[in-house]
Amino acid sequence: MTKYDFIIIGGGIIGMTTARELAVRGASVALIEKGELGKESSWAAGGILSSMRPWTENPASAELSEHGKMHYPQYINSLFDETGIDPEYVKSGLIIIEAEHIANIKHWARSKCIKVNEKIENLSTEIELAEEAVLLPEIAQLRPPRLIKALRKSLKQLPVSLFENTNITNLVTRDGRCEQVEFNGAKLSAESVIVTAGAWSKLVLGDRFNIMNIRPIHGQMMCVKPTESVLQSIILDGGHYLIPRLDGYVLIGSTMEDIGFNKETTKRAQEELRDWAASVWPSLKSAPLVKHWSGLRPSTDTEKPVIGPVPGYKNLYISTGHFRKGILQAPSSAKLLADLFSGNSSFMDIDKFSINRQADLTEIER
Ligand SMILES: Cc1cc2nc3c(=O)[nH]c(=O)nc-3n(C[C@H](O)[C@H](O)[C@H](O)COP(=O)(O)OP(=O)(O)OC[C@H]3O[C@@H](n4cnc5c(N)ncnc54)[C@H](O)[C@@H]3O)c2cc1C
Repeated sequence: MTKYDFIIIGGGIIGMTTARELAVRGASVALIEKGELGKESSWAAGGILSSMRPWTENPASAELSEHGKMHYPQYINSLFDETGIDPEYVKSGLIIIEAEHIANIKHWARSKCIKVNEKIENLSTEIELAEEAVLLPEIAQLRPPRLIKALRKSLKQLPVSLFENTNITNLVTRDGRCEQVEFNGAKLSAESVIVTAGAWSKLVLGDRFNIMNIRPIHGQMMCVKPTESVLQSIILDGGHYLIPRLDGYVLIGSTMEDIGFNKETTKRAQEELRDWAASVWPSLKSAPLVKHWSGLRPSTDTEKPVIGPVPGYKNLYISTGHFRKGILQAPSSAKLLADLFSGNSSFMDIDKFSINRQADLTEIER
């Protein structure tokens, strides 16, 4: 039986970026995905490279997000050089129109030396904003399906064995080690096993991992094609947003539904999204619908991902719970974990994402 350095279970953006990071450093990796690579939450994402509410983000998560924001351009450039696929990273800026939070946003931006424009210039008269909107001009976006396509091509050029349509049904453990992973009656083994199964991570780990509540939060999103492209920046209003793409399509997102492993798209959600969109850009009320889809975000109770060893096991690791920031935080999470394996100090302390709940409680009490 081939023995890999790493087996990674779950081929979303977290599994793919982790596999790439480890393989680039010389490791042999098996990436195992129950469906097609990147086709779950990662494919569904809008690709906004910012937290939804950066001014209230958990401090550890904010540090990871900041690293992601800073290093994405370089990451995209190297992927593009390798694969010739352009994920359309664009610094489109982010307009926030949550009137009751504007003072907090300005205060947060000043304290972090983040550029904030209180005057929004060159906005089409078709867009109706509240008086108090602000623009964060440095915020970027990309197109997740293109990023996934580029990552897939990159992984094929690296020492990564890709197993798609392969559902891991059991982890064989003995004496505090994960010895094998099982699927369709077959088995694979590795020095270390990393679970990156997003909202399904708890199911993969079973009762080995009952101290944290990782669960799916359903998000629905739609794409429309307005007659004119009059918007350049993302507009964010609480959980709702508009993302204008370079080719004129506009994404309207998104719902937040705590309904288990249910990916159904509904007429009701479509109406909610369209009504909100039309309150900002009235002609979107009748813009033709191109597509309506959904995904399951992996959520944790602590509002930050869990990255690092699974307690009680010498060679079992996890990286998940990135909730609404998985695209933003993926390359940085991959680097953090790969640095742990190579024994290098990293850009931040990985223990801040420990799955030991006590660590989280201590942090809250401080
Ligand atoms: C509507 C929506 C909009 C979003 N917008 C943004 C955004 O603008 N910016 C941002 O940064 N983030 C956004 N997100 C969040 C982001 O998509 C997620 O945080 C991220 O995709 C999580 O990646 P993942 O790899 O952990 O999960 P996933 O992409 O869900 O990947 C997990 C993979 O594990 C596989 N798997 C599960 N069980 C098994 C098993 N037993 N064996 C093998 N494989 C298994 C699954 O099939 C899946 O492919 C959005 C999410 C949604 C739903």
